[in-house]
Amino acid sequence: MIRQAKGKTPRRPPPKKTSNNQKDPVGVYCRARPLGADDEECCIEVISNTTIQLHAPDGLKANRNGEFKETQYSFKKVFGIKTTQRELFEDVAKPLVEDLIHCKNGLLFTYGVTGSGKTHTMTGSPGLGGLLPRSLDMIFNSIGPYQAKRYVFKPDDKNGMEVQNQVDALLDRQKRDSQSTVPKTPTTRRIDPEFADMISPEDACRADGVDEDSSYSVFVSYIEIYNNYIYDLLEETPFDPIKPKPPQSKILREDQNHNMYVAGCTEVEVKSTEEAFEVFWRGQKKRRIANTQLNRESSRSHSVFIVKLAQAPLDADGDNVLQDKNQVNVSQLCLVDLAGSERTSRTRAEGSRLREAGNINQSLMTLRTCIEVLRENQMCGTNKMVPYRDSKVTHLFKNYFDGEGKVRMVVCVNPKADDYEETLLVMRFAEMTQEVEVARPVDRPICGFTAGRRQRNQAFKDELTRRLEERGGPVDGEFPTILNQLLQSFPPLPTCELSGPNDDVTLPRLIEALEKRHRVRQMMIEEYNKTANMLKSVLQEQDGNIVSKENFIHEQRGKLGEKDKMIQNQKNEIDRLEKKSKMLEYKIDILQKTTNIYEEDKRSLQHELESREQRLQREMSEKRRMESRMQGIVTDAKLKWEKECERRVNAKQLEMQNKLWVKDEKLKQLKAIVTEGKTENRQPQRPSREKDKVPPKRSASPSPAPTAPPVRPLHRRSHSAGGERWVDHKPTSNVDLDTVLQLNLPNAIKVNAPNEKALSKCDKYVLTHQELASDGEIQTKLIKGEVFRTRGGGQAVQFTDIETLKQENPVVASSRKRRSSESGQDGEPMEGDWTDVETRCSVALEMRAGSNLGPGYQHHGYTKRRKP
Ligand code: ADP
Ligand code: MG
Repeated sequence: MIRQAKGKTPRRPPPKKTSNNQKDPVGVYCRARPLGADDEECCIEVISNTTIQLHAPDGLKANRNGEFKETQYSFKKVFGIKTTQRELFEDVAKPLVEDLIHCKNGLLFTYGVTGSGKTHTMTGSPGLGGLLPRSLDMIFNSIGPYQAKRYVFKPDDKNGMEVQNQVDALLDRQKRDSQSTVPKTPTTRRIDPEFADMISPEDACRADGVDEDSSYSVFVSYIEIYNNYIYDLLEETPFDPIKPKPPQSKILREDQNHNMYVAGCTEVEVKSTEEAFEVFWRGQKKRRIANTQLNRESSRSHSVFIVKLAQAPLDADGDNVLQDKNQVNVSQLCLVDLAGSERTSRTRAEGSRLREAGNINQSLMTLRTCIEVLRENQMCGTNKMVPYRDSKVTHLFKNYFDGEGKVRMVVCVNPKADDYEETLLVMRFAEMTQEVEVARPVDRPICGFTAGRRQRNQAFKDELTRRLEERGGPVDGEFPTILNQLLQSFPPLPTCELSGPNDDVTLPRLIEALEKRHRVRQMMIEEYNKTANMLKSVLQEQDGNIVSKENFIHEQRGKLGEKDKMIQNQKNEIDRLEKKSKMLEYKIDILQKTTNIYEEDKRSLQHELESREQRLQREMSEKRRMESRMQGIVTDAKLKWEKECERRVNAKQLEMQNKLWVKDEKLKQLKAIVTEGKTENRQPQRPSREKDKVPPKRSASPSPAPTAPPVRPLHRRSHSAGGERWVDHKPTSNVDLDTVLQLNLPNAIKVNAPNEKALSKCDKYVLTHQELASDGEIQTKLIKGEVFRTRGGGQAVQFTDIETLKQENPVVASSRKRRSSESGQDGEPMEGDWTDVETRCSVALEMRAGSNLGPGYQHHGYTKRRKP
């Protein structure tokens, strides 16, 4: 309420737009009119006081294959056909008028198909006044006694309002009176029967909380928007019945507060409901005439009736309006009767009419688009441009949606089936409109004067009159009736005509009368002076009062200022502390985070430490184990090598002993062979166990170099194949051993005993010699030699190679094999020592000598086992 800011420091100038976060949705109301006389089918039903249901008419249902169902629409309130104009006003327009009086803007429009009751709702008819006359009535009922004299408020031509002093206002009034024939005092004039009884007196209502210490003035404008042109319906143009001038269109402008207004639009100051309504009616008439003259349809135009309320505080003594433009508040209420919302197809228009209809629809389309975009922006937080400028209607009301104010819409519906499809569109638009929110207007700050100025001023005037009446003293010109009374109370003057020169009665009587009058006059002067003195003292008293009050106010203001400063300081301190606390919180947060990180680190490091310790432990025990093992291995190896060394020494000793023996033996054998060669029939000693038929085994062993004649380079291995010719000497005593290791020499001359003839044909000689080895195996030796021609013409054989083939008993062999492989594993050289023929021979012979030399000294070739 306007009084709530009482006692506040005055703000100059008052802020035009206070930042305001509160928003209210557009209030959408629905009103259904009764069916017309000819209409039969009804397609709407009011379900509750907030819901209305639409039924598709029968014909339409058939067209749509019965797909269609009833649709329901919800609004802030739904008014059925029985709703009275007064009820509607109470709900819809009264709050807007209250807002207007409390310096807040409002916009109210009726929307619907032609014939749905828009004009009925907005304007109404005699006895059934609509929202417009009722609003005007309520305004004047509320501010009636507090209205400023005409022309105290004066609109500038920039949508602003100025205040004039009493004298200027009086001069303006006199000027108008001399110019126009308009009756000056509307209260005394005759009321036009056309708009008489629009509102019955019992319906009168008034707003609460009207600021009595303000002065008010109402200005009305009435415009029509047709075909997207704006026409001023109140413009006074000299009417020429012969050649009527087409009305001039107006343009929209933006004022310094970015509010849109119709530039150069007439604003008529009105002082009563009747006067205001008369002005409205004048506009209506003009509209009707224009429509007839220009062949237009009124349903295609939008009519906008703007009520502007200017208010300004009274000055300190409550007598005059404060002469300060910045203290003037102007609020406005726009009452809009929109054009019919039907589509072009239904208007049955042709040519220019069609274009008009198109424009009407275009402006309504723009309204719809604006609402849609606004809604989208508000719901989705987008910032799309709202196309207000696309039509005059939306452009004019841009500030209501952009800025602040209360917006309300009455959707009118005609229940008749013909309108069904249009009504459907209207309903959808209306329902959507409710989702748009408009900033709630804020309370205007008020001036800093004490309240009750008007009343005090009035009381003072009353008191003055009373006292004057009491004392009978007239005040110049102010109280003419009192003066007359006083004059009448004087004793009448006697006749002044002298009857003759000697008339000495008349003059003394006149003198007496005059003296009496003089005394009265003297008394009156005294009385007057007394009253004047009293008045003076009263005034002084009042002045003193005012001064003390002003001082008090001043003092209070000072205190308030101090308090404000203190509050400000404290606020700053709080701000600072808050900032500091935020900073500290932030720091704590960071420290907390750091601590967490360190703790995490610590944990992970501990974990790592533990795992490393464990690993170390493991490694230590592993190391100890390895140490003990290595020690074992070392001892083992040491023992083994000691043994081995011993054995080798022994072996070497044996070998050396044997060598001597072998050499002896070789010589013996060679001797025997040579002797055998000479005595052909001599048989070699056959081993006693030859019949065991143990398969021979070949073991490559080189033969020692022969001691006898000229030496040719020795070969490591026999090369029995090739182009050479061989003498194959197999003594008859030899056992046939069916092994793979058979000597197979192509082109060899096989002999049992060597003879001159055979030797002369060949250049190689081989003797297959069998003997029993010490281990019971048959050992076959291939003793190879080369044949020489002696000087005497004979043949001589020089032995070059001995190969030993050995067949071993499997049982014995397997054990030997294992030994052999073991020795191999131990990494000792197996063949490295067999590089020269002599060694091989010696070994072979050693074997023959029956020695068991152990691992590493035998080379075995495994033969294929005989089939049993
Ligand atoms: P619009 O302005 O929407 O074209 P009107 O207000 O001119 O429609 O209404 C058309 C007719 O219907 C008028 O004769 C009017 O009196 C009547 N009418 C409209 N609304 C109502 C109502 N609520 N109650 C009774 N009659 C109504
Ligand atoms: Mg109408």
